[in-house]
Amino acid sequence: MLRYRTIPVTAFAQNCSIVWCDEAMEAAVIDPGGDLDTLLEEARRLGVALKAIWLTHAHIDHAGATAELARRLSLPIIGPHEGDRFWIDALPQQGAMFGFPPAETFTPTRWLVDGDTVRIGRCELAVRHCPGHTPGHVVFHSKDAQRAFVGDVLFVGSIGRTDFPGGNHAQLLASIRERLWPMGDETVFIPGHGPEGRFGQERRSNPFVGDRG
Ligand SMILES: [Zn+2]
Ligand SMILES: [Zn+2]
Repeated sequence: MLRYRTIPVTAFAQNCSIVWCDEAMEAAVIDPGGDLDTLLEEARRLGVALKAIWLTHAHIDHAGATAELARRLSLPIIGPHEGDRFWIDALPQQGAMFGFPPAETFTPTRWLVDGDTVRIGRCELAVRHCPGHTPGHVVFHSKDAQRAFVGDVLFVGSIGRTDFPGGNHAQLLASIRERLWPMGDETVFIPGHGPEGRFGQERRSNPFVGDRG
């Protein structure tokens, strides 16, 4: 069974999640934007072995500590989609743009495409490509656990910004409607910022992408 713990990191309170298979006690870190010592301490406390880094997209609050974590623990970097290559290359500049210390760039061990799966222990999650906030944004969906890690695609009562380079508002709405909603109304989503929600509730009440919007 998939379990997870969400830890807000960086000055942007980005929801980094440690996700693990409770049979194998092996874990992946989704979006290690920063605060590595906090993340490593949490993994130790949970008693899980970190095996991989999974990235939803390459904004610095999500990917800023990726290179350092990968190097320190010799972890593979899985994702995002190759559409975010320019954001990875720009990580050092994003530090200045968003008021962060400079971050190292890196090359993912594996780029992801829509329909891929990622695995941790005995748990498998589906990868959906959800461009709009960034061109290479992906989300990770566990059908068994009814959980989706959606980065900055969707928030409770809001949606991701599309005013950065490569952003596209219409594409973001299509990603949400065509790739998130089919995961089911009862699916709990863990956004990149703020509290968890359920897709059904967002369909009813989200002013940007709800069914009545
Ligand atoms: Zn972002
Ligand atoms: Zn973010």
